[in-house]
Amino acid sequence: MNDSGGPTRVSILGATGSIGSSTLRVLTHNPEQFAVVSLVAQRNVERLAEIALRTRAEFVAIADERQFAALKDHLSGSSIEVGAGGEAVIEAASRRADVVVSAITGYAGLRSTLAAARSGANLALANKEAMVTAGTMVRAALAKGGGALIPVDSEHAALFQSLWGQDRDAITQLILTASGGPFRTWSKEDIQQAAPDQALKHPNWDMGAKVTIDSASMMNKGLELIEAQQIFDIAPDRLDVVVHPQSIVHSLVAYHDGGQLAQLGVPDMQTPISAALRWPKRTKTSVPPLDLAQYGSLTFEPPDRDRFPCLALAEAAMRHGGAAPIAMNAANEVAVRAFLDGAFRFGGIPQVVSEVLDQTVAEAPVSLDEIAVIDADSRTKAHAAVAKFSK
Ligand code: MG
Repeated sequence: MNDSGGPTRVSILGATGSIGSSTLRVLTHNPEQFAVVSLVAQRNVERLAEIALRTRAEFVAIADERQFAALKDHLSGSSIEVGAGGEAVIEAASRRADVVVSAITGYAGLRSTLAAARSGANLALANKEAMVTAGTMVRAALAKGGGALIPVDSEHAALFQSLWGQDRDAITQLILTASGGPFRTWSKEDIQQAAPDQALKHPNWDMGAKVTIDSASMMNKGLELIEAQQIFDIAPDRLDVVVHPQSIVHSLVAYHDGGQLAQLGVPDMQTPISAALRWPKRTKTSVPPLDLAQYGSLTFEPPDRDRFPCLALAEAAMRHGGAAPIAMNAANEVAVRAFLDGAFRFGGIPQVVSEVLDQTVAEAPVSLDEIAVIDADSRTKAHAAVAKFSK
């Protein structure tokens, strides 16, 4: 229920992706508690239409304009409104809702995230690149709109919950846990020579291809450090990473009395999503209860920045600030795509990111247009670097 006693009105940007699917599982598990406002997908018309009909959404938007006719076709005879293209995506993000789940992957999710933030709805944020590239702007948009930022990324959800109601002045560190990914125990040489099918095998989490590759390189943790810095407005030197292969402890907050608070659970995105939908109320999910005795032991180890140079590159970009995180994110998106397309082995990803960061001046952008220029410029440099390092 929302404040006015009706069901919580939810919009999902990225409805056909991994986070979108987990969100729909939470909604399906609690049909009385939620009503769907808008749904957005990039190009998967069949799935989008199926979800729209099942959830009785008010409005659906497909980002790829060429799919407009197909979407209209699928939804003919229903009362669901249909839109296509960038403006329709912004409209979907802006419609009156209680919470907008922002789960479009990559820099592509920035404009719709900002629109959702301005709308006054709570922002259930799964898109980490929006905070990495334009964190200040997202926070300003939320302040203007009046909604709250509730992170969905599992680590940030854990930090958010472990900070809730606590003494902010007593925080000494935010500690993000990392699974270590599929290459955690691999040698440096083997990691550099890894192929896409090896990098796409994540041990614990079932996620989209981009974030799975980022997990294998630990760039995901680097992006998450910057995301945490932006969400919680905390200094870079108060952020740390610990590798925790079982992915049960989702992150920790250390306080100056020596204590730490953590949030634990079976690794399933339904848990952080359900918390974000009606926070501070919790919503039931189909996630099995965590039985710690069954796990027996939880282990922790320091991250290895030599074998995982993307983590060190991201930390450097975070400390530089300004254009550096934007350039790093753009270079990484291009490099991951090139790796998946077979341009080079896994070791090419940090090479491309490093090459682009070396050419980046760290002046802080002040507008969305300036961010777009840095992003586009960095992608051009990254494509040149891809060509240089291609086999
Ligand atoms: Mg995460």
